[in-house]
Amino acid sequence: MTIEELQSSLLSAPKNGYQTLTEQQRAEMNDYCNGYAEFISTCKMEREATAWTVAACEAHGFKPMVPGMELKPGDKVYHNNRDKSIIVAVIGEKSLAEGANICAAHVDSPRMDIKPNPLYEDTEIAYLKTHYYGGIKKYQWVTTPLALHGVIYRKDGTIVNVTIGEDPSDPILVVSDLLVHLSGDQMAKTASKVIEGEQLNVIVGTEPLVGEGSDLVKLNIMKMLNEKYGIIESDFLSAELNLVPAGPSRDVGLDRSLIGGYGHDDRVCAYAEIVPLLDMGIPTHTAVCILADKEEIGSVGISGMQSHFFEYFMGMLCDAQGVNLEHCFANSFCLSADVSNAFDPNFPETCDKRNNSKLNYGVAICKYTGSRGKGGCSDASAEAMGHVRTTLDNAGVAWQIATLGKVDQGGGGTVAAYMANRNIVTVDAGVPVLCMHAPMEIVSKYDCYMTMLACKAIYLA
Ligand code: MN
Ligand code: MN
Repeated sequence: MTIEELQSSLLSAPKNGYQTLTEQQRAEMNDYCNGYAEFISTCKMEREATAWTVAACEAHGFKPMVPGMELKPGDKVYHNNRDKSIIVAVIGEKSLAEGANICAAHVDSPRMDIKPNPLYEDTEIAYLKTHYYGGIKKYQWVTTPLALHGVIYRKDGTIVNVTIGEDPSDPILVVSDLLVHLSGDQMAKTASKVIEGEQLNVIVGTEPLVGEGSDLVKLNIMKMLNEKYGIIESDFLSAELNLVPAGPSRDVGLDRSLIGGYGHDDRVCAYAEIVPLLDMGIPTHTAVCILADKEEIGSVGISGMQSHFFEYFMGMLCDAQGVNLEHCFANSFCLSADVSNAFDPNFPETCDKRNNSKLNYGVAICKYTGSRGKGGCSDASAEAMGHVRTTLDNAGVAWQIATLGKVDQGGGGTVAAYMANRNIVTVDAGVPVLCMHAPMEIVSKYDCYMTMLACKAIYLA
């Protein structure tokens, strides 16, 4: 054999996706990404993504799963977990005793949450106090346009939805930063101290009510909120109000090959999971799509992936077939669909370039996440990795290798460990992202498209 023959037969040679993209694939990719851009522009928190998914399911003939329901192959069901997370399934030809093919993503993203007693006035400026949610670089969240999304459970027991800052005619909210002219001390601080948690107070107004009294700016804001939403100050206690970057996602780059927006992590994988399921025929194995909440704070709570809402739903499916739930789990496979860090040439020292995902090389498969010696990850087996690789190769899906940065540089986790703890074979894979957890994250359209094809291939495996 010549050197050239040996090279081509023995060595892997990943290609930029655009080198092989056909015109038909390009058209499909652009269609898919247009739908995705709309999805992330309107679904900025877990409740909105859940409501979107319920509506999409209903439009595609899915029914809410209820205990005792009978199921036959091809039946389409979903379970809305308290409006904050959702599981969707299409019943397969084979019994659940032979396992399900699961894709699991999360629909919460880092942001700033309004505190339970948030509204105050200082120096005739009214503010809302916040507590950030998930891992953020706090300095990135000042002097950037913010929108308020959420719900308020009023004293009378009714719920009101709030969205302020998305319509171009809406006001936006902002956290101030110190002017550079007076930043001598601030600029000498480390980045984690430049803006501190208790400084993330968002400006909501400056106009006082006319008359005598204290805190008249605050009172004016409360009066406006009461007129618009029928709320009083104590209603903040029973509210979930979140500050997220305002405005829609945008194409990025002169060639429009990228999408910039808030919360690609992990709604880019959530969308990739749900879209192929909506129009699915009868899969061989039951296909299950999970959109979980609370991943960014440890998959905790009733809507997080550690919650038994998953067992509750899968138990109902198994009951319908007289199958033992543990038996179903033991034979199931889960793709933990979550984003990876795309290699950033501006920060090459943080990554092992040979083992890092890159923009435009397809869905990124990650054997292990974790930090400091793989701590906290599920570390997929050779067999599990082989299953994913073979499935994607057979379906013609472009994939690449991902690890989360250099050894000992840092790390992270996903829902993978919680799925694997359930005795379900689990592998991480997803879309590479630039500037993960920043108010604007960036992904490649090609990788978004390939991740959707990867989820589809896993469902049909
Ligand atoms: Mn994630
Ligand atoms: Mn994250």
